[in-house]
Amino acid sequence: MKVGFIGLGNMGLPMALNLLKAGHQVIGFDLVSSQLQAFAAAGGAIAPDANTAAKDVDALVSMLPASKHVEGLYLGNTGLLAYANPKTVLVDCSTISPKVAQAVASAAKQKGFAMIDAPVSGGTAGAQAATLTFMVGGEAKDLEYVRPLLEKMGKNIFHAGESGAGQTVKVCNNMLLGIQMLGTSEALRLGIANGMDPKVLSDIMSKSSGRNWALELYNPCPGVMDNVPASKAYVGGFGVDLMLKDLGLAIENAQNLDADVPLGQMAQQLYEAHSKAGNGQLDFSSIFHFKKNA
Ligand code: NAD
Repeated sequence: MKVGFIGLGNMGLPMALNLLKAGHQVIGFDLVSSQLQAFAAAGGAIAPDANTAAKDVDALVSMLPASKHVEGLYLGNTGLLAYANPKTVLVDCSTISPKVAQAVASAAKQKGFAMIDAPVSGGTAGAQAATLTFMVGGEAKDLEYVRPLLEKMGKNIFHAGESGAGQTVKVCNNMLLGIQMLGTSEALRLGIANGMDPKVLSDIMSKSSGRNWALELYNPCPGVMDNVPASKAYVGGFGVDLMLKDLGLAIENAQNLDADVPLGQMAQQLYEAHSKAGNGQLDFSSIFHFKKNA
């Protein structure tokens, strides 16, 4: 397939490279020139702007930070929906508000485009290893059309339901992840304060009822695991500010529906204080070092 890829950041770059490795023709665009250069160095074609990347491709994948970037890319007089060929199937993998995903997909449909929301889980390691989980909202036939592409970037592909449903699942998942990372950090710090070796503590809890993804695969305590952000000074990975964005999406969604999410709200406050202390760009597992009363 010929694929346009917009947003070559921590996630988008390795995802686009996996499409390239699988033999697809990929033309990429990002606002940051170092990201474009990294893509070009690996053999990718680069476009001078988003509209060129979207020209005459079978599918267009976007992987942008937040709702406003996705609205900016697709909508308005200069947006992609005004320029691209409606035969191109649009796949937005960014994590954004379910409402915005529905609005953009509906604007796309009015112009004759098929569009799915396909946010991912699995982190930068999953993006590199092509083991991401895709949570897809939209029509089944559109998912089937792009499935061969998603299979080159991920391992598990779920059809969650109608347009926006992928984002709803993602918002629920990331609220749980944010809470789990806080709980895991708290338990590890308590053990360490008791003189425990964090590796021994982690090994035992990983085989006990406290086991969870943050503890087993993304341990926040430096030195417990290789190849996780905690052992690389929390550089790369999933930023505190991106986690904060996702918690904001969850809280906003809950408020609209009058759903009760007290732990989600508490997590939002803690990550917010951590970000304000100057840690917004660090990986979210750096919350391990956060002291509420510091
Ligand atoms: P990132 O900030 O590293 O990358 C986003 C890229 O988009 C940047 O390179 C930026 O320059 C580019 N960009 C922004 N606006 C653009 C535009 N108009 N045109 C072209 N390029 C544009 O972020 P990321 O970590 O890659 O995350 C991307 C999305 O994936 C976010 O919604 C995030 O919540 C989600 N996500 C991230 C992770 C993770 O572990 N990092 C995991 C799952 C989901």
